[in-house]
Parts: sequence; structure tokens; C-alpha cells
Amino acid sequence: MYKNTSPGLNGNNQKDTYQVRSESRPGVIWQELVEYTVSHGLAGIENLTLIPGTVGAAPIQNIGAYGVEAGDVIVRINGFHLEKREWLTLGNKECGFGYRDSIFKHELRNKVLITSVVLRLSKVFRPKLDYGGIKEELAKRDITNPSLRDISDIVLQIRRAKLPDPSDIGNAGSFFKNPTVGKGEFENLLKAFPDIRYYRQGELYKIPAGWLIEHAGWKGYRLDDAGCYDRQALILVNYGRATGAEILALSEKIKRSVFNKFGIIIEREVNVI
Ligand SMILES: Cc1cc2nc3c(=O)[nH]c(=O)nc-3n(C[C@H](O)[C@H](O)[C@H](O)COP(=O)(O)OP(=O)(O)OC[C@H]3O[C@@H](n4cnc5c(N)ncnc54)[C@H](O)[C@@H]3O)c2cc1C
Repeated sequence: MYKNTSPGLNGNNQKDTYQVRSESRPGVIWQELVEYTVSHGLAGIENLTLIPGTVGAAPIQNIGAYGVEAGDVIVRINGFHLEKREWLTLGNKECGFGYRDSIFKHELRNKVLITSVVLRLSKVFRPKLDYGGIKEELAKRDITNPSLRDISDIVLQIRRAKLPDPSDIGNAGSFFKNPTVGKGEFENLLKAFPDIRYYRQGELYKIPAGWLIEHAGWKGYRLDDAGCYDRQALILVNYGRATGAEILALSEKIKRSVFNKFGIIIEREVNVI
């Protein structure tokens, strides 16, 4: 299922890096891959612990969480072009990774079957702690020098506490992307909403969409079986019999109300089919 190759690949003599190839056929579960890498001391995807789905799907929306994206460590993907009927390999740049985005959502949408993904991971662990309460949880546990396993366990615990398990309550995870705004717009927002949450990204400011939705009053809202999750406003949930159209209609109402309150357009993260 996985191939661990020796350090120093591609002739670049990076002795601390390993490449791991994960066959996505017939669908290795992402969490199994994360568990494999964490238990083998290979760093790079521990912040992506517990994202549901398969390895083959990970490049499609460039899955990401807690300050890390799959595209940060994907070296290449191998797959089959369904129209040209030929095998292909795409390097990291050719995959066009962006925030929850890749070439597979655009030019190659539904055209490539990804059969394996090659990741470059590191034996040297440099924890990424800046997002989503990881530091706070480390402090609570009195951990000053966290291991790979500590980070993976903490992400697992935070996610379990915040996210509904799709086998209990129907949901597709985060429904919206976190918007980014420029300095001027951010300063105006900060004046109007001094407690606004944000992450600085170079010249831009990323605002958690969950914070915007919650402060537009949607957290815990429910209309029939369509709702906004009461523990994390970024997640729309189906309590049983809501139709796709009802979930979509709710998402449009939320989008409009966030725009009316904050002047920010939030975009869907999920694919509507
Ligand atoms: C509770 C919950 C939490 C979530 N949290 C996060 C999160 O933190 N971060 C994040 O980024 N996402 C998150 N998601 C979204 C989801 O986990 C990802 O989109 C994941 O990659 C979906 O995997 P899947 O195997 O279910 O793919 P599917 O949903 O079945 O497919 C997604 C797309 O990928 C295509 N696809 C699937 N496999 C392949 C393949 N082998 N080759 C080519 N195309 C393929 C499909 O055709 C489809 O277009 C969450 C979802 C849930 C339900």
C-alpha cells in the first residue's frame, strides 16, 4: 500500500526527507496514511489528522487544516486521463494547488483518475502550531516540546470536539472557504468589530468564515432538517431529510447575511453537483 523510499531522493541529497507514495487505488483512507506517517516519525501531514476521505481525493481540493495543505508536501500525482486514455504524471506546480483548489477543479475537472500520490515528508519535525487552538491545548497539557504524535493527537481531539461525525449527522465538513481581505478593508472591519478573529498572511488577512457566520447569528440555526451546526458555524448539517436544495438555499441565506453584516462575500468550499 505504501512505499517508503530511502532518504535523499531526486538527487537533492536532502537527508532528512523521505518520499512516501500512497496508492489511491482502490482508495487508501487519508487517515490511514496520516497514522502510518506519524507512527513512522515522518512529519508533514500530522496537522491533517482525521480529514475524512481518500488519498486520491486529497489533491482535488488540496485538503487543508491547521495551517497545512496537502499541496505543501505533494511532490507529484500519477493518474489516468479519462478522455485521452493515457497515463499521466503531474508535478506539484502542474497541479495548480491553491486554497482548497487545484487544476482538478478546473481544466482537469472530472478528467483524471488519480491512482497514486507522492509526498515528501521529513524526519525532522518542525511543528506548525499557529492555527486553531493547538498552542492552547499544548499549554493545557503542559507540553513544551511536542512530538509528532502529540500534534496528531491534539488535532484529533480538537476535531472530534468541534466537527460532527458524518455517520451521526449528515455534513460535508466546512461548507465555506475562509475569505481574505486587504489591509484597508481589514482595518475598517477591526474598527467595527474589535473582537474579529483573523490570521495574517503576508499583505492579506484571513478571516475565519465560521466566526463571520456565527456573528451573523447563524450558529445553531435550524429550519426543518437543514441547519448550521451548533458547535461550529462553518458546518451545515442535515438532521435527516433535508434535500440538497434546502441545504443550498440555507447556504445562500447565510452568504447574503454575512455580506450584509460584514461586506464580505464568502465562497462555497464544497462542490455542488
Ligand atoms: C466532517 C468533515 C470534515 C472535513 N474537514 C475537512 C478539512 O478540515 N479540510 C478539508 O480540506 N476538507 C475537509 N472535509 C472535506 C473532505 O474531507 C475532503 O474533500 C476529502 O478530500 C473528500 O474525500 P472523499 O474521498 O470523500 O472524496 P469525494 O467527496 O468522494 O470526492 C471529492 C472529489 O474528488 C474526486 N475524486 C475522488 N477520488 C478521486 C481520485 N482518485 N481521482 C480523481 N478524482 C477523485 C471526486 O470525483 C469529487 O470530485 C471534511 C469533510 C467532512 C465530512
